[in-house]
Amino acid sequence: MSPTSPDARRLLTGWARTAPSPASVLHPTDTDELAAILDAPPPPRGLVARGLGRSYGDPAQNAGGLVIDTTGVRGISHLDLEQGLVTAAAGTSLDDLMRWLVPLGWFVPVTPGTRQVTVGGAVASDIHGKNHHHAGSWCQHLDALTLVTPAHGKRRITPSSDPALFWATAGGMGLTGVVLDATIRLKRIETSRLLVDTDRTRDLDEVLALMVEGDHRYDYSVAWIDLMAKGAAMGRSILDRGRFAHLDELDRRSSGDPLHFESGTLATFPPLPVNLVNAATIKAFNEVWYRKAPRRRRGALQSITQFFHPLDLVDRWNRVYGATGLLQWQFVVPLDAVEELRSIIGELSTSGAPSFLAVLKRMGPANPGPLSFPIEGWTLAFDVPADVHGGLATLLDRLDERVVAAGGRLYLAKDSRMRPELLRAMYPRLDEWRAVRCEADPQGLLASDLGRRLHLL
Ligand SMILES: Cc1cc2nc3c(=O)[nH]c(=O)nc-3n(C[C@H](O)[C@H](O)[C@H](O)COP(=O)(O)OP(=O)(O)OC[C@H]3O[C@@H](n4cnc5c(N)ncnc54)[C@H](O)[C@@H]3O)c2cc1C
Repeated sequence: MSPTSPDARRLLTGWARTAPSPASVLHPTDTDELAAILDAPPPPRGLVARGLGRSYGDPAQNAGGLVIDTTGVRGISHLDLEQGLVTAAAGTSLDDLMRWLVPLGWFVPVTPGTRQVTVGGAVASDIHGKNHHHAGSWCQHLDALTLVTPAHGKRRITPSSDPALFWATAGGMGLTGVVLDATIRLKRIETSRLLVDTDRTRDLDEVLALMVEGDHRYDYSVAWIDLMAKGAAMGRSILDRGRFAHLDELDRRSSGDPLHFESGTLATFPPLPVNLVNAATIKAFNEVWYRKAPRRRRGALQSITQFFHPLDLVDRWNRVYGATGLLQWQFVVPLDAVEELRSIIGELSTSGAPSFLAVLKRMGPANPGPLSFPIEGWTLAFDVPADVHGGLATLLDRLDERVVAAGGRLYLAKDSRMRPELLRAMYPRLDEWRAVRCEADPQGLLASDLGRRLHLL
């Protein structure tokens, strides 16, 4: 079978493993094959690109239509080690980039909590990392994109040559065109180790105060929150902040190979019919996790995996939630909505929803992307089993409205459940984005389950 003749229908899901839908999947192996897919007669249910499927919900699914698996379209076509510029094909993963570039003294400008995402997926979600307060999101570090759209074919676009299309594609969830490659400005590093300061806080007020007072001194900052803790301990956290170490800051063990980078996993989680995550297991886990962190530690050396991607050590960890999958909820509210943030965290804590992956970050200013998620403020992300209890769905619907009333929004790359009527209030420049999309794709060839569910199209 040719890489661009579709597989028989496959059931696809996002990382949350909820809402599977069938699609015919194409597997192009280079950027020419990928571009040519849009020249073929349009399939009735349209098409959408897919990366490594690390979005939690349904943006990389297209029920009854075509899905283009871009993971075979990998590699670097241009590398300038003087300037720190790399042009990578859309299906190249951030893991690939780190394996190739860290030993040469360069790091990606932004990394999410997993490096198993593709360059194309990073553009379409305009991903952010622990350095958003300093460095902004992924698309702010791109010199150019090669994009193929139904209306214009293949085009190299930059933030200055085609600002409207460039910024509509940043966070545009694959609905403005198919990214063929991106030219990324890298970050220079002397070593692959991070110098990390850790503070274990008694409650939410303490962690918020530390972040307000000190985040600007760190390149990277993130707090793990114990969302099961209640009463006086509500919002107790472990705050980890750091930066890449300089050569003269390494210990003897790491200075032998200062740019050492280890990828790979320690284990693969087996398929489980049942969900192991419940209030009792998570309460116990969170207690141990919280207690094992030092009350205050300064300057610990950590590897890239330890600091940024500990979850990547266990392949397919999402199986811990069993066959019914998980739900991730991530919102951002403006900095001055701190009382609302406190109250939402309070409601989540008293709801008893079992969550061990709950993180709080401070974000810096927004970029020009109409659908780009980050705004200057507080963002909280948390995972719970999808089948936790009926009350959680009602609670989250109510909290969505409070997020909107506070001037905030949900992250589309994580969403699987929000009500479409809230989208315009969350993303007030939605019509501007739709106008660009209509020009790039007047017949509506690009389509996804998320696009239909949220009436984006
Ligand atoms: C454990 C974990 C931690 C995470 N942490 C963070 C985090 O800290 N910050 C953050 O921002 N995100 C985070 N994410 C979310 C993740 O970074 C995004 O969902 C990202 O888009 C996934 O990339 P992917 O390659 O898997 O894309 P997919 O999930 O396959 O697709 C995502 C979107 O990208 C589009 N797309 C993919 N390839 C192309 C292409 N070539 N052209 C056009 N559109 C394309 C798809 O159509 C879809 O709309 C996390 C996810 C996980 C599982």
